[in-house]
Amino acid sequence: MVTQAGQEALEYAGLKAFEGRAAATTGEGRDPVNAPMIRHWCEAMGDTNPAYEGPDAIAPPTMLQAWTMAGLSGYAGRAGAYDDLLALLDGAGYTSVVATDCEQEYLRPLRPGDAISFDAVIESVSPLKTTKLGTGHFVTTRMDVRAGRELAGTLRFRILKYAPAARGAGRSGAGGAPDASKKLRPRPVVNRDNAGFWEGVTEHRLLIQRCRGCETLRFPWLPGCNACGGRQWDTVRAGGEGTVFSYVVMHHPPFPAFDPPYAVGLIELAEGVRIVSNVVGVAPDKVRIGMPVRLEFMRADAELELPVFRALEGGEA
Ligand code: ZN
Repeated sequence: MVTQAGQEALEYAGLKAFEGRAAATTGEGRDPVNAPMIRHWCEAMGDTNPAYEGPDAIAPPTMLQAWTMAGLSGYAGRAGAYDDLLALLDGAGYTSVVATDCEQEYLRPLRPGDAISFDAVIESVSPLKTTKLGTGHFVTTRMDVRAGRELAGTLRFRILKYAPAARGAGRSGAGGAPDASKKLRPRPVVNRDNAGFWEGVTEHRLLIQRCRGCETLRFPWLPGCNACGGRQWDTVRAGGEGTVFSYVVMHHPPFPAFDPPYAVGLIELAEGVRIVSNVVGVAPDKVRIGMPVRLEFMRADAELELPVFRALEGGEA
């Protein structure tokens, strides 16, 4: 007779055997390191570091993975042990996956002209772990990126392959009381960088950060200024006028605290910064880009008030 612990040990031995195996066959970067890709990356990131320009330019270190990417057409015949491992985990019931973290290590700068090669191994498979999401195994893959034959950097990716925790426990069955906490909106994550914003909300003030150095406004709240890097800031109170810069109407998936369909807008405040919030006072299908809106504060529940934006045209919902 096989106990559950014995079954798990047997299962883990099978998974552990994947450690050290090639996750995929070795690859060559599609293009050598080159100035146009560096320029596009820097433009997209807003990174104006002079080290990435000119005759002695290096590539931004965080581009490491970009040089290994195949683009839409993919690399032919790159299937490796990784797919087999995932299939095994699927078969054992760990059908869900979430990427948990990524580490990068830079050993040598990459320069235009460097030819890239890379390989990836399954570095480790953890014993069975139970997390808030469910029970499963963490799988770490390591990709080594080389310029010529020299190791330039290493990327580690970790995923959790897991069996989702049972949902709705206590909600089904005769007489099962609904779990009230499931019907509350998610709580904001308040930390030292954004606490002032949430204090403002409790006083019905929508506060925008302003850099003390260059006076650039920023939202959402951040520890430093994107324009000048300055770390000193104060705040300005938003006047409350805005327009819908963009929006989506949520239909699916349903979340217990929300009643679909509802509109989520990216609101451009008169001050110039944008905030994601609900658009209220109008049927979701009447929300339009450019629609004028005005700030108000909505009590979501006993502990939570939120800034929302009321449509100033389009009629009542
Ligand atoms: Zn600044």
